[in-house]
Amino acid sequence: MYLLYLDDSGSVKNASDKEVILGGLCCYEQTPFYLSGKLDSLANEVWSENPKSLEFRGVNIFSGKEHWRGIEKDKRLETYKKALSFLEQSKNIKLFGAVINRVALSPGDPIEYAFEQLASRFDQYLTRIFKNGNNPQRGLIILDKSTYETSLQMLAREFRDVGHRWGHKLVNMSDVPLFVDSKATRMVQYADMIAYALRRYYINHEQEYFDIISKKFDNECGVIHGLVHFTSPASGCQCIVCLQKRAAS
Ligand SMILES: [Zn+2]
Repeated sequence: MYLLYLDDSGSVKNASDKEVILGGLCCYEQTPFYLSGKLDSLANEVWSENPKSLEFRGVNIFSGKEHWRGIEKDKRLETYKKALSFLEQSKNIKLFGAVINRVALSPGDPIEYAFEQLASRFDQYLTRIFKNGNNPQRGLIILDKSTYETSLQMLAREFRDVGHRWGHKLVNMSDVPLFVDSKATRMVQYADMIAYALRRYYINHEQEYFDIISKKFDNECGVIHGLVHFTSPASGCQCIVCLQKRAAS
């Protein structure tokens, strides 16, 4: 089975953010044990007294909040980059992300749209694995519990209808999405850090964090399927997916 862990970057509740961002990683069922261990070791380097309590959340790492308070900024940012580099080095993962401009999508719901895009792309990724290696695999989407308060709650209930609006029915899913406490799983913490790297790139125009992981977004011979940027064509966006879309048209 393949698992897709997703989290938003906090942009859903912050109406002043122009973009709503959902991001995360997909991996085979055996990979979380290895990747979680890497974050556990990193937590031990940062806070050896109580590494299990150290939760990796992009916004807290950046602003020095919660358990990150008292750790120097340079050390915090270096830790964040190290965590992203674990993803970059892992051969067994694919990243997924959706960045949806609220105004461009209006009156649609950006978080619903982001979720539907990623669920559909994850499903198509599983179909590709099957076609390329005759390897039938089911998928399961796992979300941070805090996103449950958003419109995703309703979507999760009506999950099997997701994708219908493009005529692409989800065919490889094992069950409805699960909502888990991000404190309890390092994998949702990775998803948060991916969403936060997208936030630094698309909202703060800081490229260095995104650059560490940008090649890991699901792609086929360089054609990116795993990252969506929905924005007005008039924005002239220069991000990697908008440039790709323009080159193809
Ligand atoms: Zn773009």
